[in-house]
Amino acid sequence: MRVDAGAATDVGRVRQGNEDAYLVDPPLFAVADGMGGHNAGEVASATTIEVLERWAQEGEHVPEALRDAIGTANRAVWDRAQSDPSLQGMGTTCTAALVQESVLHIAHVGDSRAYLLRDGTLEQITEDHTLVERMVKEGRITRDQAEHHPQRSVITRALGIGEDVRVDETKLDLRPGDRILLCSDGLNSMVPTATLESTLRAAATAGEAAQALVGLANEAGGEDNITVIVLDVDDDHGRAPTTVRSSSAAPAPPLPTRGSKKLLLVLGVGAAVLLALFFVLRYSVTNLLWFVGVDDDGTVTIYNGLPESIAGLDLRDPYEATDLDIDDLPDFVRDDLLTGHRVSSLEEAEEYVINLEERAEEFAEPAGAAGSRERS
Ligand code: MN
Repeated sequence: MRVDAGAATDVGRVRQGNEDAYLVDPPLFAVADGMGGHNAGEVASATTIEVLERWAQEGEHVPEALRDAIGTANRAVWDRAQSDPSLQGMGTTCTAALVQESVLHIAHVGDSRAYLLRDGTLEQITEDHTLVERMVKEGRITRDQAEHHPQRSVITRALGIGEDVRVDETKLDLRPGDRILLCSDGLNSMVPTATLESTLRAAATAGEAAQALVGLANEAGGEDNITVIVLDVDDDHGRAPTTVRSSSAAPAPPLPTRGSKKLLLVLGVGAAVLLALFFVLRYSVTNLLWFVGVDDDGTVTIYNGLPESIAGLDLRDPYEATDLDIDDLPDFVRDDLLTGHRVSSLEEAEEYVINLEERAEEFAEPAGAAGSRERS
């Protein structure tokens, strides 16, 4: 197969500098989206692209070697971060595509993406290493919710934040007419998938497609750096050779207020650890502790867990709803229930509910009603 490549990168409309970098050096194509304070993000993505560029020119172009090259890039970023305090904590995504005869090999870390447009339909090939993607896979939020989730930029894997990195690898049999898109999240976070699809379908050349997509991301607000590589796959005849090009983005701005992604990454790793702790804590809490409380509708309910939330985390599970309503009970029990009446076992909870039923009857009688009070 022959591949015709088009690429574009842009700082966007909000950021001061461009921390993205890319490589178009057939048979290798790659996008890196750096993160880190001051100029660190740029150093991370540029270092990665340099390592890959060297590999593209000198290396043995087999997929195993590409994975090793990404390992080398990871180590290069990590070593630089260790040796220079101002670069500590920097990292970068890397989505690399190697075309080998009619097979596309993708090696990927982070939240940059690879897509395939085939027969007019766009499909994402890579899986984001993000907190929201994990939540979607665990069934805790829908894909729609993920797109608008406040933590959608929190990434869980990147190059340069550890001595080793786990790389996702995928391969795909190419067909003439396929169009591949590699991009940083500055594109897909600003432009809906349906628009990516229609734009890729309509553009005459790879270069036009790349330019059009960057333009759309900027029109939508350009909140992040935008990098796009488009690859057109064709039979082995009739086209001019593709240009060799690489870019590590713009020079450092005087007043960088960046590093949001570094923070997010730290948050990402921190959040993953916290999340794990939370589940362990929640499991022990909900399996050992009981209380009787009131649900949102005013129904007296037996709960597992703790009545209070801790650091905003809800640590209770309803176990059984009773027939009692908070309004059926005298004030002195209501207060106790509203704060949550703690007991040490389910038996004790059930005894307390029986006790409450008696209180409810006593409460109802003086009012003259026949044992119960109507509630809408
Ligand atoms: Mn980005």
